[in-house]
Amino acid sequence: IKSSRDFHPEDTIIKTQHSSIGGDDFTFMAGPDSIESPEHVLEMGRDVQLAGATILRGGAFKPRTSPYSFQGNGEVGLKAHRAAAAALGMDMVTEILDTRDVDLVDRYTDIFQVGTRNMQNFALLKALGQKRKPVVLKRGMSATIDDLLNAAEYIAAGGNDQIILMERGIRTYDNKYTRNTLDVSAIPVLRSLTHYPVIADASHAAGVSKFVEPLALAAIAAGAQGLMTEIHDDPAHAFVDGAQALTPAQFSQLADKARKVREAI
Ligand code: PEP
Repeated sequence: IKSSRDFHPEDTIIKTQHSSIGGDDFTFMAGPDSIESPEHVLEMGRDVQLAGATILRGGAFKPRTSPYSFQGNGEVGLKAHRAAAAALGMDMVTEILDTRDVDLVDRYTDIFQVGTRNMQNFALLKALGQKRKPVVLKRGMSATIDDLLNAAEYIAAGGNDQIILMERGIRTYDNKYTRNTLDVSAIPVLRSLTHYPVIADASHAAGVSKFVEPLALAAIAAGAQGLMTEIHDDPAHAFVDGAQALTPAQFSQLADKARKVREAI
């Protein structure tokens, strides 16, 4: 089992042009939920970079619960995202939904993101296993830890061992106050079972901006090696998921606290 610590006892450290992910490094991935315009993603990138992020996130292909909701700007969004990341000297991470888009997304991104809804899309995982580029694999909202590790194995089996595992909250019996339940316990468990970097997304777990910071700090205390965080300068008018977006100032405050918690453990 390639993802197992028995196979590979040392932490895997993934190097991209502007970032190092895993081991003792701590990495911030942040940006808007979706790419809204070239100007907006550039401005959001500048803000998160000032706060310490090296990876600019943003979706051009959005997996929406309703087919009538905004589905993302597609290649136009990828272009704007790439241009912003290049102008700022950041890495780009963006979600891929469909095997048919692998080559298209590959032309623009530095890091692929597989979302919670596609964690067991084995055709997609196999296709990404053929690439030699990092993949952020988000835990399925109803997936067990072993399901997540087996999904990672599909990518590793193809020869791509640049995998970043992400806890983003799971479905539990109580989703009245938060969107999902951040499974903090999964973080140290994953760290003990696998050598791949483990990162947390408190934004999708919380679903509500005021709970993002405490959950993110808990994830770091539990051993997360990075955070993915959604930000927006005008959350009320964000195209997608404004309720969970931090403002740039809130993100900057979170990043300062995150560094302190990280130093303390
Ligand atoms: C996202 O990060 O944009 C996203 C859709 O996340 P998730 O797959 O965790 O819902």
